[in-house]
Amino acid sequence: MNTKDLGFNSKLIHAGDFHDAYGSAVVPIYQTSTFSFRDAQHGADCFAGKDPGYIYTRIGNPTINALEDKLAELENGFRGIALSSGMAAVTTVYSALLEKDSHIVSTDAVYGPSRAVLDSHYKKFGVEASFVDSSDISNVEKAIRPNTKLIYIETPTNPTIKLTDLRAVCQLAHKHNIPVCVDNTFCSPYLQRPLELGADIVVHSLTKFINGHADIVGGAIITRDKDLYATIRKTMTYMGGNMDPHQAYMVIRGVKTLSLRMQRSGESAIKIAEFLENHPKIEWIKFPGLKSHPQHELAKEQMHGFGSMMSFGLKGGYESGVKLMNNVHLATLAVSLGGVESLIQHPASMTHAGVSKEGKIAAGITDDLVRYSVGIEDVEDIIADLEQAFAKI
Ligand SMILES: *Cc1c(COP(=O)(O)O)cnc(C)c1O
Repeated sequence: MNTKDLGFNSKLIHAGDFHDAYGSAVVPIYQTSTFSFRDAQHGADCFAGKDPGYIYTRIGNPTINALEDKLAELENGFRGIALSSGMAAVTTVYSALLEKDSHIVSTDAVYGPSRAVLDSHYKKFGVEASFVDSSDISNVEKAIRPNTKLIYIETPTNPTIKLTDLRAVCQLAHKHNIPVCVDNTFCSPYLQRPLELGADIVVHSLTKFINGHADIVGGAIITRDKDLYATIRKTMTYMGGNMDPHQAYMVIRGVKTLSLRMQRSGESAIKIAEFLENHPKIEWIKFPGLKSHPQHELAKEQMHGFGSMMSFGLKGGYESGVKLMNNVHLATLAVSLGGVESLIQHPASMTHAGVSKEGKIAAGITDDLVRYSVGIEDVEDIIADLEQAFAKI
């Protein structure tokens, strides 16, 4: 079926899907490492690209390809590449586009490991990185050098919930002939489609909203054009960050309900944000759906909704954060985000407990900051859970 002209929700269900020779209703798991050739000529044709036949699962596999095609259509891109994790996707893009003595400009509050790997491993190979607050485009402009090979953006950032104007940053980058890669994990294509705003590459941790059920780790890269696709596909095949067929099957199953999950958690998030904004124990809240968010207008313009991720500050700082963590019952205390279950995190006492003061400031983490990933439970229960925990602070 040609699904290109279907709406987003229909694409979630049908894009990339195929029925096998037995008429399977869903894409089966082709749990095989290798594929047999009909004869010697067939093998030669597959290797020469004259026959689209499968060769070896690191290079391609029907279950994995079905997911890749679905994700490419959802992001409105040329083609997709599925990988073993979000970090495999990020580092495959870095490895494909960065070279010795080259330079990358990145959002400062980018996902921690996406920054740390540049500061450690890529530095070893002579790659220089500038981390800037890309919510102000002039910071990106000032950081561009003659050897800049990639501009890497995350919007909104985690947990600072700052947005970058994607149209503006892509225009700037293209004036300098530099490709733009956007980590779209926080939004998923339901909320934001960077390729439509001018970006060249999108990366995802499928672990979060796209799979949505907190039961696998996975990643993806989607490109806008054929040449970038070929370069990055080759890098993935050489470096071996491919996805496994069973993982692909799980994501195909999970992503089908993306819109339903995002709608429900997004509607709840607005109610929860309003509840928090008016709560006497809350000092501040950052959620792009609130009029008080400094970039609310930009969010309305470049996102199709406001998502379900928010950060808030508790009066009483660190101590209050610990008390809240120890008294919530419905929300799960965990890292990660974008699952059907609500997740809560107090970085200062949990993930960033061992990080220096400077490190925490660089990551935008204050002692009072709590991050909430709204799930699809009844919103009344989520609010009641927070209310009873606040009462103990
Ligand atoms: C989780 C995450 C990643 C890394 O993905 P993994 O699947 O954990 O490897 C990258 N970027 C963002 C924004 C993330 O939230």
